[in-house]
Amino acid sequence: MKPLEFESIVKNTIKKYKLANKKDKIIVACSGGKDSAVVAYILKKFGYNVEALHIDLRIGEWSEKNRKKLEGFCKENKIPLHTVDSKKEFGKPMPNLRSVVQLRTGFANCTVCGVIRRWLLNKKARELKATKLVTGHNMDDGAQTILMNIMRGNLHLCLGFGPKSEAKGEGFVTKIKPLYFCKERDIEEYSKWKNFPVIYKACPCSFDASRQPVKEWLWETEDKIEGTSKNIVDYHLKIKPKLAKLFKSEKIRHCKSCGEPTRKEICKACEFLKLSK
Ligand code: AMP
Ligand code: ZN
Repeated sequence: MKPLEFESIVKNTIKKYKLANKKDKIIVACSGGKDSAVVAYILKKFGYNVEALHIDLRIGEWSEKNRKKLEGFCKENKIPLHTVDSKKEFGKPMPNLRSVVQLRTGFANCTVCGVIRRWLLNKKARELKATKLVTGHNMDDGAQTILMNIMRGNLHLCLGFGPKSEAKGEGFVTKIKPLYFCKERDIEEYSKWKNFPVIYKACPCSFDASRQPVKEWLWETEDKIEGTSKNIVDYHLKIKPKLAKLFKSEKIRHCKSCGEPTRKEICKACEFLKLSK
């Protein structure tokens, strides 16, 4: 795909789903990987007010490389970068924190890390007075999540899912996914064409992720039936209004422990952080 064609998909997604405007203070959650670098670069190129937020998970050499490359990328593209160190924040690096929680709960690596990361991203983005929080999630990620929600009998979780997750409760920063209609392989091609200093390897801890088999199955199926992922994300958006009639959206409250928005009395991140002590 030609770079301009790729950029126009992003432009159309922003326009069609009213993801952002030029008055927004946009914080892009940047991992050091290709997806978040591409979305930060394109939003900046389109003239949005963009800053980057990175969580240093302290996963040894892998995190160190990601952080250094991201610092170079942000400097070169004049994107202010905010880094939050998981060790400073929680008193220990993510792998240590995670393994204590896992011993007690049996959850996979990405589940524990993901809950705490999302909690921290929302908290820090709000502190930075962001009006939008961007992630690099793409069409492949979207199709995987929708399938996994169906497979686990959690269709109700598809209710608030899509290119834009409106901030329903006080304290929630609206999350947007401008790459929602971009295929992962097109993002990689764009990133390589631009020569972005990013790491293309997956996190070394993601080997036990439950989405891995779904990811592989979708890739194989996409090769045989082209358009599979696009059809899944399109159909989901078509039936979303019907889902709203089937399932009541859960009320947002504030965690009794940390005050962050949650659907439960105590948020999952606090539950995990308490277990990690
Ligand atoms: P993943 O769950 O690893 O596929 O990441 C999904 C999105 O979350 C990425 O595209 C980034 O926008 C964001 N993200 C992941 N890891 C980090 C991190 N360490 N710091 C900031 N944002 C992150
Ligand atoms: Zn909490």
